[in-house]
Amino acid sequence: MDQIRSIISFGWPFIRRYRTRLYVGILLCVFYGAFNASFVWGTKTLFERLEPATERKIASPESDLPFGFKSNAFEKAITLLDQRVDTWLPKSGEPLNIQRIMGGLLFLPILVAIRGGIGYASAYFLGWAGENTVKDVRVAVHQKLQSLSFDFFHGKSVGDHTMLINRGTGSLQRCLTFGIADSIKEPFTIVSLVVALFLLDWQLALFGIVLVPLSAVPIVIVGRKLRRMAKITYSRGVEQDSLMMEAYTNIKNIKAYGLESFQIARFREIYGILATVGMKTLKARQAQNPIIEVMSMVGAGVIIIFVFQSGKAVPEFVGFLTGMIMLYQPIKKLGGVNQYYQEASVGVEMLRNVFDQVPSVQEQADAKQLAPIDGQLTFEGVEFSYTDEAVLRDFDLVLSKGMKIGVVGESGAGKSTLVSLLLRFYDPTKGRVTIDGVDIREVTFESLRGQMALVSQEVVIFDQTVAENISCGNLGASREEIVAAAKAANAHEFIEDLPEGYETRLGEQGTRLSGGQRQRIAIARAFVRQAPILILDEATAALDSKAESEVQGAIDRLEEGRTVVCVAHRLSTLRGMDKIIVLGEGRVVEEGGFAELLKRDGVFAEMARKQGLATS
Ligand code: ADP
Repeated sequence: MDQIRSIISFGWPFIRRYRTRLYVGILLCVFYGAFNASFVWGTKTLFERLEPATERKIASPESDLPFGFKSNAFEKAITLLDQRVDTWLPKSGEPLNIQRIMGGLLFLPILVAIRGGIGYASAYFLGWAGENTVKDVRVAVHQKLQSLSFDFFHGKSVGDHTMLINRGTGSLQRCLTFGIADSIKEPFTIVSLVVALFLLDWQLALFGIVLVPLSAVPIVIVGRKLRRMAKITYSRGVEQDSLMMEAYTNIKNIKAYGLESFQIARFREIYGILATVGMKTLKARQAQNPIIEVMSMVGAGVIIIFVFQSGKAVPEFVGFLTGMIMLYQPIKKLGGVNQYYQEASVGVEMLRNVFDQVPSVQEQADAKQLAPIDGQLTFEGVEFSYTDEAVLRDFDLVLSKGMKIGVVGESGAGKSTLVSLLLRFYDPTKGRVTIDGVDIREVTFESLRGQMALVSQEVVIFDQTVAENISCGNLGASREEIVAAAKAANAHEFIEDLPEGYETRLGEQGTRLSGGQRQRIAIARAFVRQAPILILDEATAALDSKAESEVQGAIDRLEEGRTVVCVAHRLSTLRGMDKIIVLGEGRVVEEGGFAELLKRDGVFAEMARKQGLATS
């Protein structure tokens, strides 16, 4: 019950948009359930007609009903129905004419077809609501994930996200599409069959259904087990997805280090666990049905004894047995419904965890538009820590418009953190970052980040065309602007040589580019952005010296007229900087011009010496 409540409270804001279809679907499910009772009437009617006319009575007498219950309307309806079909069905003692043959042949198929039609329509409406709801949930998950700050993603694997979106919402989809349908159809089928059985013969009904409540026992026990298994499957599934990602994105290193069999062992272990859990789930699920079936047959056995003992008529007995056998079918299905809910509740729990996350870096409600930088960019007494220990301390920096600053320091000194604070991926724990005197926490993300172009070591090439890959720096860029950016980035020529020029598809599915070419696409992306502040984060660190010289020319051009923050490990790339700061343990330990720092013979000069740069 708690699980159903949790699924409904989570799903309702999404499904309410499609509630008309949902209600129609539910109503049809109710009809479907109720219509099942017609089979009890149908078989009883057919078998009654096998008996000689004198012994036949149309509909059961009122005195048969329990607790003095008189159902005149029901009696009338059944009598009317019996009369309607009377000339259409074969009858003992009457000749078989065409009408009766057709009726006899089609009687049960028509009943089944009506029920099937209602079932189809209900599945259609509920499916429509379910599919669209899940589509909205998926989009909402992406919106939420995209809105979350950097810290949320740190330490999370790609597997976590694919798992969440695929499996979490998949289980919800199954629950909305099939779970809701069955959880309405089946109880209504049970109720309508029980009512029909009682109307047919209340004493028989009492004997027959005495075991029905016991069927709930295996359903509840199995349900608990399934929920436990679903949780394990989810967490192991996350591991499996992450491992897959890790193994196939790093295939080069895996082969180079001969780690194939090590990876296979990891896969084998995880698949082994999944197979064990799969078997446990299967055993629980499969044991449930035989238990319920045996119970239904015990119920039938009780009836058989009672019928022989009380000398009941055959048609009633057959109608009754049909109803009894039909009754356990929906009970079995309810066991399956339980499974949909158990799995979906685990999925919903995971989705809820994400929806409950609050971005640690948020735009203020009254955030302003930041005007293009005109004066200074400053870090004022900035302190920042990811965990307990401060990564930046008492950090001050003033950068005037058009100034180029180089940032160096040992690995772990806080260089990338500086860039992250500038882009407001994180907020300082103390102090502030300002642009023209405005705290960057007071402005919109769009107006802040729109002023910045980032070129980093890891170039992301999307699985799109060259033109689209460049224009994602500025989504409204025209073709002329894209080509101009590519020319400025020394990329136009090699793009023209690609099979379909600017329309060549890149990325996973498309043409492979060299490291230098990829970086030049990234630089073209930065050009087309026309942002006044350029952030270079180890932009050439991954390139060989030939590629570096090709790219460096493009970077020099990109730096013209812009305010530049350049993080570099290779000090030679910083010769053109107006100022260089050397970070050490989160503080500026040295600053000055390139030549000046070399002359000072401090930390910078020592680093330069190690890189083979002349220091005198
Ligand atoms: P650099 O770019 O100079 O190599 P970073 O700014 O990446 O240095 O990191 C500075 C310090 O902060 C390092 O000690 C690093 O381990 C730590 N660090 C970086 N990112 C995180 C993070 N997301 N969570 C916790 N610690 C981090």
